[in-house]
Formats: sequence, C-alpha cells, structure tokens
Amino acid sequence: DNAPASNFLRGLIESDIGSGKYAGRTDPNGNPLPSVITRFPPEPNGYLHIGHAKSICLNFGMARDFGGRCTMRFDDTNPTKEEQEYVDSILDAVKWLGFDWKDSGGDHLYFASDYFDQMYMMAEYLLSAGHAYVDSQSAEEMAKNRGNFTEPGKNSPYRDRPVEESLDLFRRMKLGEFKDGQHIVRAKIDMASPNMNMRDPAIYRIRHAHHHRTGDKWCVYPMYDFAHPIEDAIEYITHSFCTLEFQDHRPFYNWVLERLAEGGFFKRPLPEQTEFARLNLTYAITSKRKLLQLVEEKIVDGWDDPRMPTIVGIRRRGYTPEAIQLFCERAGVAKADSWIDMSTLEGALRDDLDPKAARAIAVLKPLKLIIDNFPENLADECSAPVHPHHPERGQRKFPITKEVWIEEEDFMEVPTKGYFRLFPGNKVRLKYGYVVECTGCDKDENGKVIAVHCNYFADSKSGTEGANNYKVKGTIHWVSVPHSLEAEVRLYDRLFTDPNPDAGGKDFKLALNPNAKEVITAYLEQGLRHAMPDEKFQFERHGYFVADRVDHSATRPVFNRVVTLKDSWGK
Ligand code: ATP
Ligand code: MG
Ligand code: MG
Repeated sequence: DNAPASNFLRGLIESDIGSGKYAGRTDPNGNPLPSVITRFPPEPNGYLHIGHAKSICLNFGMARDFGGRCTMRFDDTNPTKEEQEYVDSILDAVKWLGFDWKDSGGDHLYFASDYFDQMYMMAEYLLSAGHAYVDSQSAEEMAKNRGNFTEPGKNSPYRDRPVEESLDLFRRMKLGEFKDGQHIVRAKIDMASPNMNMRDPAIYRIRHAHHHRTGDKWCVYPMYDFAHPIEDAIEYITHSFCTLEFQDHRPFYNWVLERLAEGGFFKRPLPEQTEFARLNLTYAITSKRKLLQLVEEKIVDGWDDPRMPTIVGIRRRGYTPEAIQLFCERAGVAKADSWIDMSTLEGALRDDLDPKAARAIAVLKPLKLIIDNFPENLADECSAPVHPHHPERGQRKFPITKEVWIEEEDFMEVPTKGYFRLFPGNKVRLKYGYVVECTGCDKDENGKVIAVHCNYFADSKSGTEGANNYKVKGTIHWVSVPHSLEAEVRLYDRLFTDPNPDAGGKDFKLALNPNAKEVITAYLEQGLRHAMPDEKFQFERHGYFVADRVDHSATRPVFNRVVTLKDSWGK
C-alpha cells in the first residue's frame, strides 16, 4: 500500500536490473558496485528550490528503493560563480530532506573539480586521437560559422591543423600563455549535424579565474557538456537523470563516453542519460535568477523567507521533509513539461501533519468575551486531548476565567442567515468549557464592538453529565485572558496571485500577492510557551503553525502559519 507509484524511470531501472545490465561490476580495488548508482549534481551557485527537491527525492529515492547508491556531487567546473556558502547550504538541504550520501561503500561526496587532472588528460587524449582540435577563431567567427537550424555550419580553418600543433597549443593554454578566448578546444564531430550540439562543441576553454577549491592551479576549465559525462563515468553512475532541456545534449554525452571508452579510460557498460520533465509549481517561481531578484530587491526577507520556494524557505515556513517527499512522490515523474498545483504541496503538508501535530488553541483576531455570572477569581481547569486520535499522548490543561479571548468573527450583533455563533440571545459552547448565552456587547464611540457579554451555565461543562442537556449549534474556541500567551504570529500565504507568475515572459513582480505576509499579535493557549523552535502544531480551526526556527524563543514566541486547514484558493 505504501509502495511508491510506478513511473517510467522506475520502469527503466527495473528493466535494467532484470537484464543484468549493470550487474557484476567492480571498482579498481575489486569491490563490488551496486547495479543502481544515481547522482545529485548541483552547481554550488545558489540556494536550492523545490525543483531541486524533486531531483533529490528522485535520485536519492531511486537509489534507496533499489538498494543502490546516490552520489552527492558538486558540479563546480565553472570557476567564477561558486561559493562555499552554497556548498554548505546544499549539503544541509539534502540531509534535512532525509538523505545521506554515505553508505557501506564509503562517503560519496564528490567535487567535479577534483577530476580536473583526469579531465585534462582525457582532453589531451581526444586531441591526440584526432577526435578534437584547438580552434583559434574569434568567438564571433565561431558563432557565425556554427550555422543555425536551417543552415549547416562551416568547418573552422583550424579544424585540420596537425595533431601535434593542437596538443602543443593546449599545453600552452594550460601554462597560461594565452588570454581568455584566444583558443578553445573543440570536439571534431560534424559541422552539418542537424543537432547544433554536435557541431564541434567546445570542450575546454581558457578562463583566468580563481576557483573556490582549486585556487589558481588552473586557467583552462572543461565545458559542462564535456565534464558531466566524465563525472558520471568516474563515479560509476548507471542512471543519469536530467531535465528535458538536456535531451539534445544526449548524443554528445554518449559521444564523449564512447570515445573515452575506446581510449581505455572507462569500462562498459557506460552511464546512460535519461530526461524527465522539470517540476513547475503554480503560484511560485523556480528560476534562480528571479529568486535572487526577490532577495536583492528586498521583496522578501531573504533566502529563507517563509514565502520563498527555496528549501531553506519552505523549511522555515514549517514544511516537513516527509511532506516534501510525499509531494514529490505524488507529483510523479513526467516525460513532458507540466505544472503541478501548489495545492498538491499544501495537501501533502496537511496529510503529513494531521496525524502528528499536537493541537492547540490560538485566537488570532481577539475580541474580549466577559462571562458576567462567572466567579471573579475562579480559574476553572479545562482539558483537551493533545491529539484527538492519540489518547496515549494525554491531555492539555488550561483554565477558563471570567474574561476570555474569542475570535472577532465569532460574534455578530445582527446575525446573517445561517450564523450559529454568538449573537444576543444565542447559546454556543466554548469548546472544552461551558455553554454560554450571549447577552449583548460594548461599543466604543465609533460603534466598534470592543467586548461581548454572556452568562454561563455552571452545569454544562464539557465532559460532565450535564453537558448532554445542552444542544447548541455553534462551538467556538477561546483562551483565558489572564492565562493566555501573547505571541507574534506571521500569517503567510502564497507569494503570487497568478498561478503562472512568469509564464510567457510576464513580469512576475506584477503578480505579487500583497497579503502573502501579515504579522499579528495573537493570544495562544498557555502550554505553547514550552514550544521548541521548529515544533509544529495544528491551531484548531485555523491551520498548521510552526514555532519559527530562527526568531521563536520562550521569552518571545513567534509562530508562522504554514498552511490553512482547508484549501481556500480557486474557490
Ligand atoms: P538554474 O537553471 O535555475 O540555475 P539548475 O537546474 O541549473 O537551476 P543545478 O544546480 O544545475 O541547477 O541543478 C541540480 C540538479 O537539479 C540538476 O540535475 C537539475 O536537473 C535538477 N533540477 C533543477 N531544477 C529542477 C526542477 N525544476 N525540476 C526538477 N529537477 C530540477
Ligand atoms: Mg544552473
Ligand atoms: Mg544546471
């Protein structure tokens, strides 16, 4: 029943296991290798978002489900953009999501930059075997001679330069004799290929730049399309999953591996690339560039703003790793681009938290209710289950007193049709407490209701015999005025009002939801003063809330709304 849903990638792995395609492999020390090895290969150039979570759950999840391994690889071949800060936050995100790159076979945390020596040797090999050449055209000439979708490209005048000359130039490129862009190494494939990626793609370029791990050791760096298959093969990857935009890159991925296998660098069977549709989530954006814009223009309060679709953001919002995993499972794996509705993510959180989260009472928009016939100094203890389906988790205790906070919307001086809560003459139950009958209200000079009056029935307490004698249509929640915990509550909602805020080149800033964050002072059940940062609750009738993992403390309680109890969008 809890078996993961099938999808085409799972089917592919099952069929490869069935045919024994990757069975019986060993590493150079003779240690057996799993028949399923996947990888999660982020560039450490930004914070991960929900789309990356999809890739993490997919790659680590498949490895787990098939008894394989998933390597954690930083694709740090581009020297200028990468930083340690991102490496740390990415490792943190993967661990938080519940995955581990260590297994009985070792610690599979890798950096592509650790392979630079090997990659360099492989490029030299391709040059010496006549599969590559050093091109000395200018960038403009190269672009012009590449042709386009309707016209074939033209061979570079340097394409047939002697192997020795290319090798000599490449070695001098490495020694730093040339400026950026002066020469470039290109694979020698086919300038007339209908696939632009096969028109002698660049494999190594000059880049006089400091690298966050290799420092100034290199001034030539491999291109992504050359580096990626090599990284996969070095790590014995079997299934290399990537997003659809890499479909046209697959022939070159295979070309690189085939040539290097011929050269004795890699053993067959080689890794295989398979594409799946990237995750697009409605009411969110997942472009790193646009997310950066939200942060830099201070539209949000940082990368971990609870409105952000970043992993640090959704974590702070109060999402659980289990909810994210459930969401990714439900979103499935598609072969064509599609949108997943935000309600799927929110639904996964509700389904995860409903059976787990302790219940508590919170009055978010407070209005004072005065029980006129209640004894002046009495604090009468009431109790409620910590969780309605888990009696073993015990009871919460909280007192009822003469003055309690109720929600503003639970009183109407003149009720509308079908309104069963407080209005003069009507009876309601104060949940877990007594039945009260409304007698009227106090107003300020502007006519605004500032307090509601009622009388209680002393024999109507919940859980006592007498309770059964009272039949009321409305039940409302409350907290005792003197015993309540005052707290800052941040009511978060979706960041955009448009389901596709950046579709078709639209300006996503026009679709920002001005009500995505509302900060209020609320009155909470007293027991919440013991809440730990990151602890989640269901505030009865309101939704799921979390003690903010950054700002919450016993002396300054701060709670975030993760999601309301019911989906109110699109209704
Ligand atoms: P961006 O283009 O915004 O910089 P990226 O895809 O280049 O993002 P990487 O760090 O290269 O970011 O991504 C690491 C892995 O996560 C890749 O394998 C990539 O395919 C995958 N990934 C990124 N975005 C998504 C998404 N929206 N859905 C599924 N997988 C994704
Ligand atoms: Mg990127
Ligand atoms: Mg990328």
